[in-house]
Amino acid sequence: MKLHPLAGTLLLAAGILSAPPLSVAEGLPDLGEAAQSEFSPATERRIGESVMHEIRRDPAYIDDPEITSYLNRLGNRLSSQITESRQEFEFFALRDATLNAFAMPGGYIGVHSGLILAAASESELASVLAHEISHVTQRHLARLINKSGQGQVASLLALAVAILAARSSPDLAMGAAIAGQGAAIQNQLNYSRDFEREADRIGLDLLERSDFDIRDMSAFFERLQKYSRLYENKNSAPGYLRTHPLTTERLADMGNRIQSRPYKQVPDSLEFQLVRAKLRVQDGTPRDAVAEFESRLADRNFPGSEAAVRYGLAQALLRDGKLAAADKEVRELRRLKAVSPMIETLEAELRLKQGDAAGAVAILRSAQPRFPQERAVAYGLVESLLEARLPNDALKFTEDDLMSYPSDAKMHFLQAKTYAMLGRRLQQHRAQAEGYALLGQLPEAVVQLELAQKSGDGNFYEYSQVDSRLREVKKRVADEAKQPKPR
Ligand SMILES: [Zn+2]
Repeated sequence: MKLHPLAGTLLLAAGILSAPPLSVAEGLPDLGEAAQSEFSPATERRIGESVMHEIRRDPAYIDDPEITSYLNRLGNRLSSQITESRQEFEFFALRDATLNAFAMPGGYIGVHSGLILAAASESELASVLAHEISHVTQRHLARLINKSGQGQVASLLALAVAILAARSSPDLAMGAAIAGQGAAIQNQLNYSRDFEREADRIGLDLLERSDFDIRDMSAFFERLQKYSRLYENKNSAPGYLRTHPLTTERLADMGNRIQSRPYKQVPDSLEFQLVRAKLRVQDGTPRDAVAEFESRLADRNFPGSEAAVRYGLAQALLRDGKLAAADKEVRELRRLKAVSPMIETLEAELRLKQGDAAGAVAILRSAQPRFPQERAVAYGLVESLLEARLPNDALKFTEDDLMSYPSDAKMHFLQAKTYAMLGRRLQQHRAQAEGYALLGQLPEAVVQLELAQKSGDGNFYEYSQVDSRLREVKKRVADEAKQPKPR
């Protein structure tokens, strides 16, 4: 039996292994009074967040601010068209070659790198996101559970776990059976035809209102179906069609709706092409990636733009340690006058690897005001300032940045690194604690705050701040331990 390792962890965390069937068990996130009532959007959000805490620690999770921010921009362009709900969304990518995407409770939408690479256009990728967004806004997950009469938080959590288990594993039934409620979860996991039709209909509307090519929705789903037939007998069909059953009827419905619309050509954004190139480079060995992009360049085979192929080649060369060749490609990129923060961070990374920290600082200092919302540029700038031994400049930057992005865990960690270089131990541990607290890693936050208490280099005011923060975090830990017990 193959079960995604993360799913195993979560099954244990949810206590489902030891306490079948659907009872609220020890180790569940604290869901308070809502636990016994119908799911409120806030409850769904908390379940989703607790599952995300685990996902972010999974090796498959793509912790790349450029890829994450691209997906979120694309997803938010779609979700901003929704007027009737104020649901928040968070999009993330997982390194996995299978073609899949999934929605979890609370608006968390995961996309496999395989699906991003298989999309032939940005509208195709957008169509999958639009479909998933619609499952969330229509609250299909909660409705599935309410329909099954198991209105328990545990079952929503179990469902989230099963979604993860089903991501890549062809052995969903086995994975779910372990949870002691195999059939129930499997039925829940397959969205019903009605839900699928609803998600298609609403998804198409979102696509259209966001100015994507709606024809690409049926095109992509048809391609998924072909792909799925190819793999059917190998017991490794892509998860997408398993959890979103595609019927001829569905395709016909989409076709009818699309036919009445005027044809619209939508060019792919440069970011879409750069993100795909970056994902491709991270797949397999750098040498293979170099060979692939070199041959595309030699054939003048530019499915997107020449800039994206050169960007991919430069990234691959950089990963392969061929700095001079990467430098040449970056110069070619500049000659093409392509504009993207991803090109700025690439060049800065190259300068760092060449030992030219001052060069990296100069590039990112000039890029930062042009791309003030690009987190990768901000992170890169702090890292380059530290590399250039300019911790005071780095500290000033992190302080200003955290005013605008107080819940950015990574920036708190970078600030901790900055304080470490400045030899300020109390502040170092305090910043580290904030990062952990934001990631939901409360025991780690407690440890850091205790280290801050013992640092010996704070003033009275700083120590009392640390003391009161420690009390708050400990209270949160205690609250989370106070959960409904299994009965
Ligand atoms: Zn679906």
